[in-house]
Amino acid sequence: MRKKRTHLKAIYTSAQALLSLIDDILDFSRIEAGEMRLDSVPFDPRALVKETCEMVRPRIHDKPIRLSFKVDHKVPKILVGDPGRTRQVLLNLLSNACKFTNQGHIKLRVMLKSAEEERARVIFRVSDSGIGIPPKRLEEIFEPFRQLDDSLRRAHGGTGLGLAICRQLAHLMDGKVWAKSKVGKGSTFFFEARYGIRSGEPEAFHDASHAHGPSRATADGVPSKDVERGLEILLVEDNHLNGRLASLMLERAGHRVIWAQDGWEALRVATERREQLDLILMDVEMPGMDGLEVTRRIRALGLNGIPIVAMTAHAMKEDRERCISAGMNDYLSKPIRKDLLLEKVDRWSRKGGM
Ligand code: MN
Repeated sequence: MRKKRTHLKAIYTSAQALLSLIDDILDFSRIEAGEMRLDSVPFDPRALVKETCEMVRPRIHDKPIRLSFKVDHKVPKILVGDPGRTRQVLLNLLSNACKFTNQGHIKLRVMLKSAEEERARVIFRVSDSGIGIPPKRLEEIFEPFRQLDDSLRRAHGGTGLGLAICRQLAHLMDGKVWAKSKVGKGSTFFFEARYGIRSGEPEAFHDASHAHGPSRATADGVPSKDVERGLEILLVEDNHLNGRLASLMLERAGHRVIWAQDGWEALRVATERREQLDLILMDVEMPGMDGLEVTRRIRALGLNGIPIVAMTAHAMKEDRERCISAGMNDYLSKPIRKDLLLEKVDRWSRKGGM
């Protein structure tokens, strides 16, 4: 029985890996075909960098790594461009840094390269104290389906498309991605992109932050919803592939995802972002504190206005009842299907607004 379970788990995991590979390939072919359209909206680069680091932080697990970021003061307060794709590139570079660094630091620095009247070139630099990349391989890693080598690929997973996609996205932003590295000392990845800037519009700040963090608390503390502008969703999921898959689905639909990989992290985010959160997607089976317990604690903290949707592989009637009695509003069965996921998100975000 146990053996069967293990097999099933392995199949499930590879199916998930395959799905994320397909997603990457879709991205890749969309860019190749010239079908990738970038947004051009105002956003706050400081908020974006901070959120992106928070999304990546759980991936450090318990490794002794200090993850930090710094945005130079010359970088404009508001940039006009595609925040979702900018985040995608940064997530990719930071996630790689997490994978290939066992201790030390990961630093993200944002610098202004040049600015004209209406446009700015910005450089994002991700440096780590990881295993490094041999000089011969530095170009290869940007080629589709190439990774450092097979053994690393097995140890660290990934589709081998991430950096190729980053490079192409950077090209679409009239920029580039490149790397420097020393084996055993660490790697530094650079991502340069061009953005629009607005002169003399301090008010734009608030509009821009709303465009990407749409919650405005109403009188009863329930955030009003604006699905078209995207929601802020806390995704609680301990499984890396499931989390990545759900994040991709949600982000592609225009939502912002904060991914917590365990119950404690979920509680922290729920408390800190109580005003901004539109929805929580809660894995039920997690080591340590499970989703039921996290939900009970969130509700005990008085956070009753945020809808919580369970994600569980056990979709039997009594399991659903356990979720509801723990304080959840709804459930979604695993493996997650994109259409059902987005339907739930849509339904619960609208309910919150009523
Ligand atoms: Mn789980």
